[in-house]
Amino acid sequence: MSLSHLSHLDCPRCGRQYDADVINNLCECGSPLLARYDLASITTRPGDIAARPHTMWRYHEVLPVRERVISLGEGMTPLLPLQRLGLELGVPGLLMKDDGLIPTGSFKARGAAVGVSRAAELGVSAFAMPSNGNAASAWAAYGARAGLRSVVAMPVDAPSITRTETVISGAQLYLVRGHIGDAGRMIADLIARSGGALFDASTLKEPYRIEGKKTMGYEIIEQLGWRCPDVIVYPTGGGVGLIGIYKALQEMQELGWISGPLPRLVAVQSSGCAPIVQAFEAGKRTAEQWPDPRTVAFGLTVPKPLGDFLILDALYATKGTAVAVDDTDTVATQARCAQLEGAFVCPEGAATLAAVRKLRESGWLAENHRVVVLNTGAGMKYPFEVSAPAFDPADTLPG
Ligand SMILES: *Cc1c(COP(=O)(O)O)cnc(C)c1O
Ligand SMILES: [Zn+2]
Repeated sequence: MSLSHLSHLDCPRCGRQYDADVINNLCECGSPLLARYDLASITTRPGDIAARPHTMWRYHEVLPVRERVISLGEGMTPLLPLQRLGLELGVPGLLMKDDGLIPTGSFKARGAAVGVSRAAELGVSAFAMPSNGNAASAWAAYGARAGLRSVVAMPVDAPSITRTETVISGAQLYLVRGHIGDAGRMIADLIARSGGALFDASTLKEPYRIEGKKTMGYEIIEQLGWRCPDVIVYPTGGGVGLIGIYKALQEMQELGWISGPLPRLVAVQSSGCAPIVQAFEAGKRTAEQWPDPRTVAFGLTVPKPLGDFLILDALYATKGTAVAVDDTDTVATQARCAQLEGAFVCPEGAATLAAVRKLRESGWLAENHRVVVLNTGAGMKYPFEVSAPAFDPADTLPG
């Protein structure tokens, strides 16, 4: 028996509906599609969930997988109080959802677990996608577990560990001189020439990875005792996690699992690639292509997110905001977090902490706000970002 209450897919732009039990990519109008559930038929209450296994599959009613879950044990990562760093940043109630502790070392595992499970049960046997590194390593790993063939293209500058992870899982890897948009063009070409053999699993062209990433929203709320924080701060590349968290909040509201105002959502980008921040500041509903994107927070190097209007809608609807931080700030904050909290976060996660400092200084955040930042990956995946000089024993021994 299926535990999913998935009913159909619909288009958030034009409203067209699609059958969820056949393979779909984008809407005819070019928009990403969103999975919808028969929420009214769900009788589960928050208290029923407590005793379930500690993975993201504990929310199976609102996940799209009907039969076969491909899992490496992902989800229910810690929600850590960052008291010492919080004091330094001026927000003592600071909390960090730490997705550094998840299979493949980044939260892309959530999207891959659901995306691959769903692709496999709908009959896909091979998929292709562009990636900035972490999505490729996650999809390759889950693809291997499901027995699917995977083809990925990533920028030659992507973190080298993600290449290793991708190749060891048996994926076919292409390196592209350029950014993820260039990798995307290469993949589109391969798919077109494959005669239907390759499923297009590109970010948001495939409707289910967002369902995996939305579980971060469910987990944050459950870990806070089914109460909302004031603010959730998210490092935004393609924006899938932010769109997903917003979707989760809306679903929980409709299910009656939460009440009151939703948390204000904050999109954090790097000043070297900030199309969403630029659009938000101009009050626009879509983003412009960012020229020459560059940042140490490699997962944020997305010059024109396909779901830009969904990200911006979520920011406006929750009275949130968008902030760009400099790489120097990101790198310094990454070290501060490790020194004060023992948490070695990825640069993308560090960017959210740097943004908290900026938002506190500007007065957008108040001292008593309960703020949750997302750390989307393990700092250990990017060792080359950090210089680690050691002391020379000869310098410290008495002469
Ligand atoms: C992909 C990625 C992001 C950006 O995620 P989106 O949901 O696409 O905005 C942030 N951090 C890390 C570590 C990533 O790999
Ligand atoms: Zn449409």
